[in-house]
Amino acid sequence: MNYPDISVIIPCYNEEKSIQLMYDRLITSISSITVNFEFIFINDGSKDNSHFELIRLSKEDSRVNYINFSRNFGHQIAVSAGLDYSKGSAVVIIDGDLQDPPEVIPEMYAKHKEGFEVVYGQRLKRNGEGFFKKITAKYFYRILKKITSVDIPVDTGDFRLIDRKIVNDLKKMPEQNKFLRGQIAWLGYRQTNVFFERRERKFGETGYPFSKMLKFALDGITGFSDFPLQFVTKTGIFISFISFLVILYAIFSHFILQKTITGWTSLIISSMFIGGVQLISIGIIGEYISRINKNVQNRPLYIVSDTNILPKD
Ligand code: UDP
Ligand code: MG
Repeated sequence: MNYPDISVIIPCYNEEKSIQLMYDRLITSISSITVNFEFIFINDGSKDNSHFELIRLSKEDSRVNYINFSRNFGHQIAVSAGLDYSKGSAVVIIDGDLQDPPEVIPEMYAKHKEGFEVVYGQRLKRNGEGFFKKITAKYFYRILKKITSVDIPVDTGDFRLIDRKIVNDLKKMPEQNKFLRGQIAWLGYRQTNVFFERRERKFGETGYPFSKMLKFALDGITGFSDFPLQFVTKTGIFISFISFLVILYAIFSHFILQKTITGWTSLIISSMFIGGVQLISIGIIGEYISRINKNVQNRPLYIVSDTNILPKD
């Protein structure tokens, strides 16, 4: 079998209005590189007509492949499924909502030809996204960089081109809580960037509400850093030390100064504070345990309801 030069992986969650336009722009962009390519659209349990749009496109163009999930599994898992099914010697990951411009792909491909295994898109500007999203994203990536040992580039999403070698390595990393940009950074190889402006979402709405963003951020941190655990331990030691000093002072003031503290305020504040710290600590430990639990269960990452892709061999 003749393997394609490029596979393009496009996760879609309620993107019925974007799919045709995405396809048109991808065709224009990729055709300038090669005629030997494949598109893999993953329908991640969309509630709209994305599925029918994809079937229609795949009937018109045999290079269009689709994977239809049995329900919504989440963006990172949709991309992972695309990687599992891809056959190209270079693989591009791009959002299906036209926020990542397909026109940047030839530039990525040129860098790949120069010998880079990973060419990630780095955002110069984010258009049309709320202040809250911009500010949380900005600081999240900078904090993550500080507390992890892997060098995850700032201001990058999953929009990138990766070599087949990387895809094969990723398949050997079966962790359930995917944080692909972290895993790819962890792998090493020669990595470089191209800059792009992140466009506004034209149709539909974001599939990443705050709750999903928070889960994603926690996956990124717990997957690549033990900092929170060490932080909890250090905070515990620090607070115990302070309490010890307070105890000494209380004994001193009772027996020597003959003045017993009668404060209700100080009591309630300190017990609330310690209570809060304990709850946060238990929560952090819980995050790591939930990670272990998911990986011990060893369930399949996703369930495919139907696809037009034949198995590789
Ligand atoms: N997406 C997905 N499953 C989800 C949520 C999102 O496949 O559960 C897709 C979505 O269709 C889009 C990409 O992942 O192509 C990025 O999601 P989104 O645009 O909602 O995130 P944002 O750009 O707002 O961070
Ligand atoms: Mg988007």
